[in-house]
Amino acid sequence: MARETIRQLRLYLELLQEMGVDYLPRGESRDRSPSPTPSTREEKPAPPLQPDMKKLDSAQTNPQLEAVRAEMGECKRCPLWKERKTLVFGEGNPWARLMFVGEAPGREEDLQGRPFVGQAGKLLTQFLQTIGLSREDVYIANILKCRPPGNRTPQPQEIEQCFPFLLKQIQAIKPKVICCLGGVAAQTLLGQKVAITRLRGQFIPWRWDIELFLTFHPAYLLRNPGQKRNAMQDFLKLKEKLEGSE
Ligand code: SF4
Repeated sequence: MARETIRQLRLYLELLQEMGVDYLPRGESRDRSPSPTPSTREEKPAPPLQPDMKKLDSAQTNPQLEAVRAEMGECKRCPLWKERKTLVFGEGNPWARLMFVGEAPGREEDLQGRPFVGQAGKLLTQFLQTIGLSREDVYIANILKCRPPGNRTPQPQEIEQCFPFLLKQIQAIKPKVICCLGGVAAQTLLGQKVAITRLRGQFIPWRWDIELFLTFHPAYLLRNPGQKRNAMQDFLKLKEKLEGSE
């Protein structure tokens, strides 16, 4: 437990350092702080970020989600199946309140069959950890389940074939918030062209009582580290939203 806490703290500090923060002000020691007033002491603890645990059985199964996977099978609905090593369906908490949607698997994801496991995935994991979440707390998927050659941008006909399955995944998971990572995810879910830089950090009412939230794709942040500070602010907003919606 202590080792895990230290590991998370180290990741958080690494992220801050990458964002250009090289000094942290020293806080007051807890022992020297004035005693809390009675009203402070009676304050309720912050609600957990986690979903209603009653919904989670021991195996964390979601039959509706499994049915979507079964329906996809060894999908050949668009030409991307020809070059894929693995179909990357998605992973995480099948009852997650927070779902992330990216663009498409990259090389590492194609090899491992898991979303966001390369360098961009490592950064996403770091951001999650800074708001007290792990990958297992959320659900992570992509617009496309197969890697486009050379990581090129998905083509409209590929999205047209694959997107209905993402919609079915969303209907099965029933998240409160979907965080779109990057322009392709945002444009596909919103059904219109959007500028991430203009709409990021906002909650947008969507269908099925779900709100969309837009932020940068972690791969973009690797190329533009100056935006990590803004991305961190976005993740803090996500945390606030989840805490407030319990
Ligand atoms: S990208 Fe989607 S639609 Fe195309 S083959 Fe893969 S799973 Fe099927």
